[in-house]
Amino acid sequence: MNTTVNAIRYALVTGGSRGIGRAICLRLAREGYSIIINYRSDSNAGAQVKAAIEAEGGKAELLPFDVCDSESVAEALTMWQNSHSGEYISVLINNAGIRQDNILSLMNNKQWHDVVNTTLTGFYNTTSLLVQKMMRKRSGRIINIASVSGMMGLPGQSNYSAAKAGLIGATKALAKELAPRGITVNAVAPGFIETDMTSDLDRTDIEKSIPAGRFGTPDEVAALVAFLVGNDASYITGQCISINGGLYT
Ligand code: NDP
Repeated sequence: MNTTVNAIRYALVTGGSRGIGRAICLRLAREGYSIIINYRSDSNAGAQVKAAIEAEGGKAELLPFDVCDSESVAEALTMWQNSHSGEYISVLINNAGIRQDNILSLMNNKQWHDVVNTTLTGFYNTTSLLVQKMMRKRSGRIINIASVSGMMGLPGQSNYSAAKAGLIGATKALAKELAPRGITVNAVAPGFIETDMTSDLDRTDIEKSIPAGRFGTPDEVAALVAFLVGNDASYITGQCISINGGLYT
């Protein structure tokens, strides 16, 4: 008799209600993960992702919180843990991010702090809590969604480039801390991807600067994330892998 119990594998995707995060939720659900969909405010969008996963036979739950607010993050994750006794979140995708572009000489405090807080402090707020359980279990995957903007710097994005470059640095440091525990930490740095975040950009002009001649799709980013989460990527850690149609090499 086979007495093996198949443990449920949980993946938390911050900013999972729209765009790249939504595609990651759907893709990881197809890989057999039970998905915890985080978002800040758009509960309709979150519910639609949950319904889409369930329609394909997958499992999902909603866990809204603002990644910038350490108390809300701690409260939500404690609530999740209390209702999932004995379980743990083995995959964390730090995807929540915002853009507030301006040239630095005109950038206000709010534009700077909101962008840095969402990407960088948001990474700290979620990861510092979830990593403890991963360390005890000696297993886990952390993927941080960075950007080519953090690798090459883009004008009008000193806040966003700084936050994403910081996230890449944190990825490399944390990877070294956690490798002895069997946990990998990597960054994925997309170029221009078709989502709400890029819907205001002059696409025709930008596409001329991309060797592939087009924006990427959220599904293409999700496929890379799924590979890094899978067993085949067990020896890849501390890397920043860019997915950008040749924009930055
Ligand atoms: P979208 O604007 O389409 O979606 C953003 C998601 O993040 C939403 O689910 C939103 O939820 C959530 N979110 C925003 N702020 C918070 C917060 N404080 N707490 C919790 N959730 C939050 O973005 P994309 O899908 O385009 O981007 C996803 C990630 O990919 C970001 O980190 C972005 O910087 C990065 N990226 C995107 C690129 C692109 O071309 N699109 C290129 C390179 C990197 P809600 O609606 O409820 O606020």
